[in-house]
Amino acid sequence: MAGRLSTSERLGADAFDTDTSPHLTLSDPALCRTCPDKPCIAVCPAEVYHWESDRLRISYESCLETGACRIACQSLGRGALVWAFPPAGKGVQYRLG
Ligand code: SF4
Repeated sequence: MAGRLSTSERLGADAFDTDTSPHLTLSDPALCRTCPDKPCIAVCPAEVYHWESDRLRISYESCLETGACRIACQSLGRGALVWAFPPAGKGVQYRLG
């Protein structure tokens, strides 16, 4: 019998069918420059968000669709994030829960 899998091992089994259009966008990128803590970066388990060259880079391709960034941005950030699920059949496909 196999041992328990770690979270990383479980996530590593997931598959992604990436849409060509990002499902995570910003209503106004300038709002992110005034966002003091940028909580989206800290809460995302997939490390989708990165602050680079004075702008927020969003690697939507690896999104796990938890919605944590949406809540963090609305409650602790500046509300710039426009969050939506990918179109049906696109995005993450969980294999091991
Ligand atoms: S939390 Fe919202 S406003 Fe702040 S950096 Fe992230 S996306 Fe921008």
